[in-house]
Amino acid sequence: MSLFRSALFFKSVASLADAPASVAEIAFVGRSNTGKSSALNALAGSQLAFVSKTPGRTRLINFYALGSERFIVDLPGYGYARVPEATRASWEKLLGGYLQTRAPLCGLALVMDVRHPLTELDQRMLGWFCLTGKPVHVLLTKADKLSREAAQKVLRRVEGEIGAFAPNASVQLFSSLKKSGLEEAAAVLLRWLDASAPRAVSVALGREPNENPRQNRGWRNKSPRAKRGNQPGAKCLKV
Ligand code: GDP
Repeated sequence: MSLFRSALFFKSVASLADAPASVAEIAFVGRSNTGKSSALNALAGSQLAFVSKTPGRTRLINFYALGSERFIVDLPGYGYARVPEATRASWEKLLGGYLQTRAPLCGLALVMDVRHPLTELDQRMLGWFCLTGKPVHVLLTKADKLSREAAQKVLRRVEGEIGAFAPNASVQLFSSLKKSGLEEAAAVLLRWLDASAPRAVSVALGREPNENPRQNRGWRNKSPRAKRGNQPGAKCLKV
């Protein structure tokens, strides 16, 4: 947890070429208004993500430094209804390019509103990202909006369904308002960052991290829904 509390805004980029040198990073993504900024702020214990809400930065990739070339990365929220097609296409390219090619990216924190989990766009994001073989951790945010029993029921349902889209996914309840689920989330994300040293070494040696077949299990998902992600159109991210 303390590592996230040291997070500081580093830079915003509109092009992958401008992304900072990094050893390991975790990206946060989700539909707009699901509570991504609030979750980042809750984990950092400060108004970290106000930066990503400032006009002009909402369509950029925002890097927050955790020290020693490690980062939390705030990706643009998806699912905006009223975005001109050209704008959408350009940030889908940025987002898709980042998620698909960024070697230091060691995992994705996917934020969903506990009352509307696994929307079609979330499913698309999961199916698409799991092709990288990297893990996903889902934060079911705003858990305080449901009773304890109802929230647990959603958690079990999502845990049961998510394997069809992303075999490397774990799920938890989260509330920025009640500050619940912070420790659990931080433990998962810090484990990814700590485990990323071998990945960083692979990259330094010029090998793609996914050359390790053990990390490629995501490709072998037999579910028909996940298989769709292997079709040619999966190269484009449409969110
Ligand atoms: P983003 O667009 O995904 O970054 O979402 P925000 O973090 O800006 O949150 C959208 C709205 O949901 C705001 O009004 C927040 O106050 C509210 N919100 C975010 N997280 C929680 C939560 O855990 N519980 C409750 N009750 N409201 C939340």
